[in-house]
Amino acid sequence: MQKYSGTSVFGGVAIGRLFVYVKDGQQVRRTAITDIPAEIERFDKARLAAKKDLDELYEKAVKEAGQDNAEIFTVHKMMLEDDSFKDSVYNIIEEQSVNAEYAVATTEDNLYEIFMGLEDEYMRGRAADIRDISERVISKLSGNNATLTLYEPSIVMATELVPSETVQLDREKLLGFVTLEGSKNSHTAILARNMNIPALIGIKPDKDLNGKLAVIDGYEGCIVVDPDEEYLAKMQAKKKSDDDKKRLLLELKGKENVTSDGRKIDIYANIGTPSDFPFVTENDAGGIGLFRSEFLYLKKEDFPTEEEQFTAYKSVAMGMSGKPVVIRTLDIGADKQADYFKLDKEENPAMGMRAIRICLKRPEIFKTQLRAILRASNYGNIWIMFPMIISLWEVKKAKSILEEVRRDLEIEGVPIKPVKVGIMIETPAAVMMTEELAAEVDFFSIGTNDLTQYTEAIDRQNPKLADFYDAHHPAVLKMIEMTVKNAHKHGTYVGICGELAADTELTEKFIEYGVDELSVSPSMVLKVREKVRSL
Ligand code: PEP
Ligand code: MG
Repeated sequence: MQKYSGTSVFGGVAIGRLFVYVKDGQQVRRTAITDIPAEIERFDKARLAAKKDLDELYEKAVKEAGQDNAEIFTVHKMMLEDDSFKDSVYNIIEEQSVNAEYAVATTEDNLYEIFMGLEDEYMRGRAADIRDISERVISKLSGNNATLTLYEPSIVMATELVPSETVQLDREKLLGFVTLEGSKNSHTAILARNMNIPALIGIKPDKDLNGKLAVIDGYEGCIVVDPDEEYLAKMQAKKKSDDDKKRLLLELKGKENVTSDGRKIDIYANIGTPSDFPFVTENDAGGIGLFRSEFLYLKKEDFPTEEEQFTAYKSVAMGMSGKPVVIRTLDIGADKQADYFKLDKEENPAMGMRAIRICLKRPEIFKTQLRAILRASNYGNIWIMFPMIISLWEVKKAKSILEEVRRDLEIEGVPIKPVKVGIMIETPAAVMMTEELAAEVDFFSIGTNDLTQYTEAIDRQNPKLADFYDAHHPAVLKMIEMTVKNAHKHGTYVGICGELAADTELTEKFIEYGVDELSVSPSMVLKVREKVRSL
């Protein structure tokens, strides 16, 4: 097993045999000629034939890589018409009385050097295009037709691939490609990205690798040749999960979460920090059903300021462009500890000073967070959610603090939009109080992780209890059903944001109960959508 590192131009995994492409290296000989006008005519004919080829390549690229990517061949046609290219060839033929092939090859070398010497990386990327058009004209002059034919699914390895070679490759058989040279901005790299082909540049192999089994790891930026069984199995699994994801994206992006008999459900995503946000849009979630705001606190040595929090909430709210963003207020304590909170040591932290209990006992911390959330409300569709509720009075108290903060901000003239207010249902006490609680809030979100822990009296952190832990325990399922029923009596929206929401064995049941929303980790959004649509 040998590993070669390079620069990845497109992530993803490719597994297959290497096809090492050695260009014919068109040998151009310098020949003296006497009939200069005839040689110039030969060059112009070859140039026009090359332009015709480019029309065909353009059509092929439009079909396989899209209009934008095909434009490179329009650029190549323009380069063939460019005076600096044409005049250089004419001059060399006229002044040196040499054959057109030699004049084109000399022009190619000169322009290649000029482009490679430029500061701008994009312009350096154009040097490959000069090579491409020149080689094409030389092929026409010499009657050669350099082609790159793949006979089996392969990873292509070459010193450098020019765009016309990339697009000629049979897409069905091309698994990925690796080049020894090339720049990240070359059109070949751009095409690879747009065609979703794993590709690496800047690889330095130390021997002939033709025909060997290889794995491109576009995430790590390396290629492993002659992989051992363990590595191969690991990369096959990675590839399978990529393929599943791609298939789901292709099939399901932009589609509704609707069953075949027309029942709809919202599928949202859970995040910890704004850096998770790109995965939410990438996976087409309809909103953020749980922003675990405590991660903003856990990453720090001291309390995050109002401004820091405002920036984080605002960026997510804006990014979601009006789709709901449910920000759960601080759920610190139990397994999520931050020293600077200086919480007392407790016998039973999971049942101790945590979440809303800290916020109600230490309102100064709570108010800072609520100010940041309300200020951010102006930039999107923010919902506020209180965690670990067991009693009605806690909700009333939290809401009254929220009102106080709102009034203060209004007096300061800070613009605020209306926010929905909801609670987590994650204790059996809350479940039993759902009728009363539903009248007090706009929405519920069922936290099945804690609800299961407290219902089954099983510490969710303790792996030794795995045999007793039952994610599908009827007690928990009955509580979910009851919560939905009581919520809907008051027109209260109800979602599930614990891990159970992503359990596709239960999707049908949740829809039967009438759950309005499932909020899952971003990578599960499309899997759950697929399940819903299959019902
Ligand atoms: C839950 O308890 O189900 C939940 C979503 O909250 P957390 O996992 O953050 O406790
Ligand atoms: Mg919880």
